[in-house]
Amino acid sequence: MTDTTNQAPDLFDKFDGIIHTRTELLAGGVEDPFNLVMERVISPTRAICNGRETILLGTYNYMGMTFDPDVIEAGKQALENFGSGTTGSRVLNGTYRGHRDCEDALREFYGMDHAMVFSTGYQANLGIISTIAGKGDYIVLDIDSHASIWDGCALGNAEVVPFKHNDIEAMDKRLGRIPAGAGKLVVLEGVYSMLGDIAPLKEMIAVAKKHGAMVLVDEAHSMGFIGEHGRGVAEAQGVLDDVDFVIGTFSKSVGTVGGFCVSNHPKFEIMRLVCRPYVFTASLPPSVVATAATSIRKLMQGGAKRAHLWENSQRLHGGLTKLGFTLGTTEPQSAIVAVIMPDLERGAAMWEALLKEGLYVNLARPPATPANMTLLRCSLCAEHSTEEVETILGMFERAGKAVSII
Ligand code: PMP
Repeated sequence: MTDTTNQAPDLFDKFDGIIHTRTELLAGGVEDPFNLVMERVISPTRAICNGRETILLGTYNYMGMTFDPDVIEAGKQALENFGSGTTGSRVLNGTYRGHRDCEDALREFYGMDHAMVFSTGYQANLGIISTIAGKGDYIVLDIDSHASIWDGCALGNAEVVPFKHNDIEAMDKRLGRIPAGAGKLVVLEGVYSMLGDIAPLKEMIAVAKKHGAMVLVDEAHSMGFIGEHGRGVAEAQGVLDDVDFVIGTFSKSVGTVGGFCVSNHPKFEIMRLVCRPYVFTASLPPSVVATAATSIRKLMQGGAKRAHLWENSQRLHGGLTKLGFTLGTTEPQSAIVAVIMPDLERGAAMWEALLKEGLYVNLARPPATPANMTLLRCSLCAEHSTEEVETILGMFERAGKAVSII
């Protein structure tokens, strides 16, 4: 007989709930919403997905930079001249001229003294938050913050104090209860990506400053688009100078991969030596930093694209509202328009009906979404034409009626 007294549980048992939900969903015969393959990408707004030509309305390619000829050329040149990868950390052999140039482009873009490039936006939040707020410090953050923000808080071991989404008074109260003398960091986002709503940064930053807290704003979904120069919601609300740290990513408007932090803090450069998610990982490939720098510089001149993207967002938001869909915001506030589904089953059915129409959107579900919502998240691109947005509305109307959502 085998002795089972020493047998430990299967460490995968904790995933049984999610395995069950997924199996049930797929048993209904629906195409797997989390396993889509883009077989060919034709443009920032079109791809062949699961064998069909599809309009892309679920990417973060807000400014449509992925096929920009100057961006592609810069990447090719860097690939040929510097090779495919750096094979090392930024603090050892992994800082090439291109990394410095990319940081220069960011400093110019934001008009700030310091810029530090990370391998992803996730790592930028993980690294900056965990390094500046450690044991004994307090982080006051919006409850709907992105996973990378929460993970940064956990890694640094600070006291974490969440407040209700966008609730200025709740934030004020939390800050007021922090013991005197403790370090305080307030973490906010410009655009919250699930519902596409923006933060009242002007009021919130004033409250944070009243309590003497430092402020970090993640502008992942607003960079390139929101604000006169595309610097984000803090620029649009006239408070960029009061933000201590702006976090951003290259995986959205910039159109490649990577993350960054910009700051005017006089001691900021020390981060390069003490921030573990910066030090203990390989730097970005030369082709990536070259495409990012070129794209960032072009985004500075992106006024016409920004205006067209706003038009697209207004057209889609207005059209979907008229069709009777329930949306995440009453007014369009960003390039994200979230359509609220009654439940996961009907959300998945609607997602599939849209895909069959030739439209890709993001199906988002808990735990990524707030309040247990199932969402069809639409993210617009400056390269979607007005006619394309009208076509998209027709697809929503047919799919919504077929699935009895409208
Ligand atoms: N912050 C926010 C608010 C995000 O939405 C994301 C990615 N969706 C990130 C950070 C991470 O960015 P990256 O894709 O560069 O890791």
